[in-house]
Amino acid sequence: MEFASVKELLCKAQENGYAVPAFNVENMETVQGVIQAAEELNCPVILQTTPSSVNYAGLDFFTACVRNAIRNTRVPVALHLDHGSSYELAARAMKEGYSSVMIDGSRLNFEDNVALTSRVSELGKILGVSVEAELGSVGGKEDGLTSESVLLTNAAEAVEFAERTKVDSLAVAIGTAHGFYKGEPKLDIKRLKEIKAAVNIPLVLHGTSGVPDEIVKECIKNGICKVNYATDLRNVFTKAVKLNMEKNPDNIDPKKYLGAGREAVSEIVKKRIRLCY
Ligand SMILES: [Zn+2]
Repeated sequence: MEFASVKELLCKAQENGYAVPAFNVENMETVQGVIQAAEELNCPVILQTTPSSVNYAGLDFFTACVRNAIRNTRVPVALHLDHGSSYELAARAMKEGYSSVMIDGSRLNFEDNVALTSRVSELGKILGVSVEAELGSVGGKEDGLTSESVLLTNAAEAVEFAERTKVDSLAVAIGTAHGFYKGEPKLDIKRLKEIKAAVNIPLVLHGTSGVPDEIVKECIKNGICKVNYATDLRNVFTKAVKLNMEKNPDNIDPKKYLGAGREAVSEIVKKRIRLCY
């Protein structure tokens, strides 16, 4: 089965009032854990990789690994580049077979973000690859980089940004952050409603791990069509591996502890899928 189009998945989600969950994968076990869960619940999912995961294993590894993992799957699965850091990386991912890329120009000023996003969006249209961009800035620790400043997305700017760049989806900053939260996150739902009322394209929520279920549901009700989970998966994977090692100190077979990690990923992914659909 070929990778699903994220644009199509998100448009369907927008029409029907649910969100497609996107899970960050980092190795074979996380890929298999996510796909196992999606198959079991028969729900489309997006697998995504950050630039640091791409540096670790390679774009070609992830395309081949995910393509093999979905060979006999009937549920739609997409492969997405998360937080694409340059035009060059986004273009490489498209050419390698990713069905979607994010270009993250959120650290740039408005005009430079428009210019960079427009170039990637144009290439995406030519190659038939969906493009996500970010306006405003989601805080926290993201792919090894810590951002102290949280700049919430402005609805009027979002309209202009969407019109000028012609991106397929937009990540909005409404108070979430990457990594672990200290205390309960405060999300600006009023702002989300304003953006949703002003912009037609599907909206994306980053930094969802640690956001209470009720608040995630509220976001989906108000226009979020793609929900990103990374920290949750890393957390359960690492805990399961550690626990397995503690319980079996003499074991040297990596399949044993990595398999435990894979199971843990599959379980959390099922929970998150049930929340989104
Ligand atoms: Zn993110």
